[in-house]
Amino acid sequence: MKDSLNTIYQELSIEKEVIDFCDGVLSGLKSRFEEIDRVAEYNQLKVIQAMQNNRVSDIHFAATTGYGYNDIGRETLEAVYASVFHCESALVRPQLTCGTHALSTALAANLRPQDELLSPVGKPYDTLEGVIGIQPSKGSLAEYGITYAQVDLLPNGEFDYEGIRNAINERTKMVTIQRSKGYQTRPTLSVERIGELISFVKSIKPELICMVDNCYGEFVETIEPTDVGADLCVGSLIKNPGGGLAPIGGYIVGKEAYVENCAYRLTAPGLGKEVGATLGLNNQLFQGFFMAPQVVSGALKGAIFAANVYEKLGFSVIPNGTEPRYDIIQAVTLGSPERIIAFCKGIQAAAPVDSFVTPEPWAMPGYHSDVIMAAGAFIQGSSIELSADAPIEPPYAVYFQGGLTWYHAKLGILMSLQKLYEEKLIILS
Ligand SMILES: *Cc1c(COP(=O)(O)O)cnc(C)c1O
Repeated sequence: MKDSLNTIYQELSIEKEVIDFCDGVLSGLKSRFEEIDRVAEYNQLKVIQAMQNNRVSDIHFAATTGYGYNDIGRETLEAVYASVFHCESALVRPQLTCGTHALSTALAANLRPQDELLSPVGKPYDTLEGVIGIQPSKGSLAEYGITYAQVDLLPNGEFDYEGIRNAINERTKMVTIQRSKGYQTRPTLSVERIGELISFVKSIKPELICMVDNCYGEFVETIEPTDVGADLCVGSLIKNPGGGLAPIGGYIVGKEAYVENCAYRLTAPGLGKEVGATLGLNNQLFQGFFMAPQVVSGALKGAIFAANVYEKLGFSVIPNGTEPRYDIIQAVTLGSPERIIAFCKGIQAAAPVDSFVTPEPWAMPGYHSDVIMAAGAFIQGSSIELSADAPIEPPYAVYFQGGLTWYHAKLGILMSLQKLYEEKLIILS
């Protein structure tokens, strides 16, 4: 078997030196992978339990059109999400076009002119700068007279409790906490740490609405931010919870009153959750959520494997090879544009779709510098599928995530290493 595996890897143009180097790394990861499997098993059971308790049935896969009144599939899917996140209410809609839209909806729905939004964990994800108005933007919260305050993490990654206390004032209405590091090199927050932060801000001002940007974090741990006091928790269905099958969508879960505000903002005041046809997508949204724990575990194994491969080669990796994981993103600082381009070419070449195209750096809406993106995905832009992104700027870090299966993630890493190796941008020792 080992021979035929080596043969097919070599047919896919991975050289023996690369395979041997990676085999050496993998042999040290057995117990890590077992732990990931246990988390996936728990989360799989949690999802099945929620589907059973909400009596999911094939009638829920029927398509609705037009206004979408009485779409029981949609209502049941939302009940399943609310059960899994242990919260009162959920809005899970194909009309939430992406993660940014879901976050923008949750913020705009719950803030009013003169209110202030606080980020106690530093700068939010790039695309939210326009939403908030950190970068002037048409329709931003700033244009509606909603102000923004930010407290950065301390240099050691801890919360700046003193700074946060000072930043909370009589206008502070909402707190936004980004779980994942996104395109930064700060650590990702564990759900437990998010809980500590929420307790702290609520001890100062109990009525604060705490929202967590949960993108890339779903099913990485056995608990979610709503288990530790988050009032709202928001994410994208073309990331973890869509399981690679959801073709579009976002979710907002949390306290009934705040989720209801989101529904009124998404559709229209007075209409709220009652409208929104699902056009036959419910089947994929249910099945994707069912698959998600397993898919996330494959992506996590890929991230840990990559961290250990590149760490062994002397590159700086965040998270490092041994530390615990709280999202599926792996940052690897490769230190030169040539290396990040070669890495991305490898990810692309390993894809089941569009393996023959060559990724190039390009200007992207919402990003500061040119970005190179590698993905050969079944769903366009899906980043639960194996994908790599890198802004072409120092320190030349590539952000790598996803993989619908562990074996595909593994091939992607092998192929990235192969490209670096054949362009003589690394030395295998
Ligand atoms: C991806 C992401 C977003 C935005 O989601 P899109 O679907 O790309 O709009 C927001 N926050 C974080 C942390 C993300 O990873």
